[in-house]
Amino acid sequence: MSFNETFFQRAQITTPGGVNSPVRAFRSVGGTPRFIKKAEGAYIWDADDKQYIDYIGSWGPAILGHAHPEVIAAVQHAVTQGLSFGAPTEAEILMAEEICKLVPSIEQVRLVSSGTEATMSALRLARGATKRDKIIKFEGCYHGHADSLLVKAGSGLLTFGNPTSSGVPADFTKHTLVLDYNDCAQLESAFQQFGSEIACVIVEPVAGNMNLIKATEAFLQTMRRLCSEHGSILIFDEVMCGFRVALGGAQALFGITPDLTALGKVIGGGLPVAAFGGKAEIMAHLAPLGGVYQAGTLSGNPVAVAAGLTTLKLIQAPDFYTQLSQQTQKLVDGFNRIGTELNIDFCADAIGGMFGIYFCKEVPTSFEQVMQANGELFKRFFHAMLDHGIYLAPSAYEAGFVSACHFDHVIETTINAARESLRQIT
Ligand code: PLP
Repeated sequence: MSFNETFFQRAQITTPGGVNSPVRAFRSVGGTPRFIKKAEGAYIWDADDKQYIDYIGSWGPAILGHAHPEVIAAVQHAVTQGLSFGAPTEAEILMAEEICKLVPSIEQVRLVSSGTEATMSALRLARGATKRDKIIKFEGCYHGHADSLLVKAGSGLLTFGNPTSSGVPADFTKHTLVLDYNDCAQLESAFQQFGSEIACVIVEPVAGNMNLIKATEAFLQTMRRLCSEHGSILIFDEVMCGFRVALGGAQALFGITPDLTALGKVIGGGLPVAAFGGKAEIMAHLAPLGGVYQAGTLSGNPVAVAAGLTTLKLIQAPDFYTQLSQQTQKLVDGFNRIGTELNIDFCADAIGGMFGIYFCKEVPTSFEQVMQANGELFKRFFHAMLDHGIYLAPSAYEAGFVSACHFDHVIETTINAARESLRQIT
């Protein structure tokens, strides 16, 4: 038995499903999860010492490539000064200043430790600031696992959603209206019907949790306009796409200004830092100034902030995003060429350092289209790629991530592996 298999068996004895976050268990693709020993640059190594080119990048944070020497050095230095103080530090000020500088819609920001905390807190803040209960989210967008966000669409349009997870009382989701992504008409109707009751709209402006789906500009502009007209707060959940699709995030790319933004992943550089922020007048509702409570023992942890600050510094290097986008585009162009070459329904799309691969004729623009893609073929592709040493997300509904260490030869190896894999499985 391999080390991966032995570890998986052992892990399942003491940890539910053998993993600390469900997608890691390979449930939707089958087989044995890889237990990772170490990671460097574009590569990871599993417990059996097999090397892979990594396109998960810790689900987004590893934008510089794994174990960037400057990030490691910053963490090593921070560790020598003490691990956690539960009191403010200068590094937190620097981090906040950096975020406010890079994302101009954020006038004030609060640091937390996970994306879930960031969106959950932003939602509470929006409700507290507007004194309204209802929220709008979109099917296929994931905003972490706060109760009122774990919702699937109700049975008809403009009905409130049902919990997606057991353990979430229907009462907790009864204020959550779930609409279709990229559907402007539904947004208009929802605001027409409930406008004065809607506290906020929360959206992934580039969706990365139903594979990669880009919002249309019309969709984002419509929600911006409707929120302004009805006094509702627009929350961009940029936990994944923030500092991933562009410096300044999707809002910089689309030129649309949300009222609040949730950030995570990249801003922690691989350690647990996330944040939410926005207009100062909204942020003033937070405790200790206002009545919206939010707190965290490890919020702004000095070691995590050291990794985050260094990462934010390094991604501001000239042409960082031009190069990241170019490499991602080369990968996607390669995938698309193979689809045409082999005459199969296989295509890919990219934005910044994020990409999607789809087993369908055309790049999907809606949740419904994503669900129609060929899931069986994805599973076989995933395993064939793994055999070729390419580590993709073990789910057809996750975006992929390219890092600054995915140099030309890495991309070439991946494209060749994809060609071989697709030949084998079709
Ligand atoms: N929001 C988005 C868009 C995400 O992709 C995620 C996680 O993948 C979250 C929120 C939750 O973040 P975390 O897993 O750090 O709680």
